Amino acid sequence: MTFTTRFAPSPTGPLHLGHAYSAMLAHDMAVANGGRFLLRIEDIDQSRARPEWEAQIYEDLHWLGLSWPQPVMRQSERLPRYRAALDQLTAMGLTYPCCCNRADIEAAAGAPQEGVPQFGPDGRIYPGTCRSRLPSESTGRDVIRLNMEKAVRAADLRSFSETGPEFQGTHALDPDELISAVGDIILVRRNMGSSYHLSVVADDADQGITHAVRGADLFEATQIHVLLQSLLGLPSPIYHHHRLIRDENGKRLAKRDDARAIAKYRAEGATPQDIREMVGLPPSSG
Ligand code: GLU
Repeated sequence: MTFTTRFAPSPTGPLHLGHAYSAMLAHDMAVANGGRFLLRIEDIDQSRARPEWEAQIYEDLHWLGLSWPQPVMRQSERLPRYRAALDQLTAMGLTYPCCCNRADIEAAAGAPQEGVPQFGPDGRIYPGTCRSRLPSESTGRDVIRLNMEKAVRAADLRSFSETGPEFQGTHALDPDELISAVGDIILVRRNMGSSYHLSVVADDADQGITHAVRGADLFEATQIHVLLQSLLGLPSPIYHHHRLIRDENGKRLAKRDDARAIAKYRAEGATPQDIREMVGLPPSSG
């Protein structure tokens, strides 16, 4: 299989130094291994995605010296694919519709208890209020959740390989941790037709990604992705979670950090080599 990496930005704001690092690292790794670097636009959240941000992404990445094959995969064009993956999980009896809003979930979760995690990689751990509802009872205004207890029983739980410096090694999925520290994740969000987790596993498989290069903040979510891959019969890439680029106060950069937007550095006369130096990447040979 061809060594294949990807960069998967959401077009909801300007690319900053952290994105540049992630994209250039994935590109460098593909080049060093005689492989392919692919781009994917993660725009399932149509309430936040903007065409002008997507255009800016292409412009910034070209300016950084990156290239990728066409056509670019866009999540907004793949809703039938995500639906098929959901239907597969529903046919296995693993999904249910949930009508709880944030306030309902907080009220049902009750007071925090010592030693019981409240938040996991999919946000607040769901207390299970709607767990006995049937898929056929979905109103269209519901989110769809994965019944984690049933899912870990149905899956042939895999390990995944990690090559990033912080987490290097083989990581086995732990069923108890998935149940208690991750919980019933959302597979389909309201008005989106999918969720990040469901889309990313379908997309990585369909793009033939062999090495998923992304920020260390997504390491904890990887157990969700590998679980879904086992359930859906999809291959698991090797993961490479890289360090996060932080500001001078040690805070990780966010979309609203316009001060560190690539476009701003460009406007101020920086070169792509300057950007590589700023994020600690060796000079590009190309
Ligand atoms: N779209 C995600 C982000 O912008 C990246 C997801 C991934 O690389 O798996 O943070």
